[in-house]
Amino acid sequence: WMDLAREHGASFLLASTSECYGDPKENPQQESYWGNVNPVGPRSVYDEAKRFAEALTMAYHRHHKLKTHIARIFNTYGPRMKLNDGRVVPSFLDSALHGKPLSVYGDGKQTRSFCYVSDLVDGLCKLMQSEEAYPVNLGNPEEITILEFAERIQRLTGTDLPLAYEPMPEDDPKQRKPDITKARTLLGWEPRVGLEEGLQRTIEYFQSMS
Ligand code: UDP
Repeated sequence: WMDLAREHGASFLLASTSECYGDPKENPQQESYWGNVNPVGPRSVYDEAKRFAEALTMAYHRHHKLKTHIARIFNTYGPRMKLNDGRVVPSFLDSALHGKPLSVYGDGKQTRSFCYVSDLVDGLCKLMQSEEAYPVNLGNPEEITILEFAERIQRLTGTDLPLAYEPMPEDDPKQRKPDITKARTLLGWEPRVGLEEGLQRTIEYFQSMS
């Protein structure tokens, strides 16, 4: 893709990921943090592939002077997600809307920070229009435990379904929250849609589909 961008004089945007930070020992995560990734664990093919993609992008930028950008995308959600893709937002919504127990992995104390899709897209566009080649975190710093998230889904869907505790997947990050100081100062970007509002829009979408 970067050769194609070079041929056409185009800019290149890498959709990277907060998974580059692995199971982070720093919270929130700043772009300067190098991460804590198990190189041979079940998540490592994804994590290390994205880390290598970042390395490759920077090499093209340095060596070929290609105009590149790297967005480290944190958990994003919204309408048009697949109900069965296994991620926690569609998983809980699928359960809540179909009367099934909400499957919480581990003790549910692990945290995530969920960003609504339109905010994320806005950040990507702003990053594309900037001159920044080094990674920029894009995400919503509103951090929540998975247990609190399950309760939020129960309340917003008006259900009282039980929680089904299941084993924690190996190497599941215990905490994740973006430090978005760089995006704020460099791009003038920050999320506008809070979790409550974003989830309501997402629930409406899934209700209209079922
Ligand atoms: N999770 C959960 N139940 C599910 C799906 C996921 O408790 O049905 C947890 C998962 O263990 C993780 C968090 O929710 O701690 C977010 O998982 P997801 O796969 O959505 O994203 P990622 O782990 O890549 O951040």
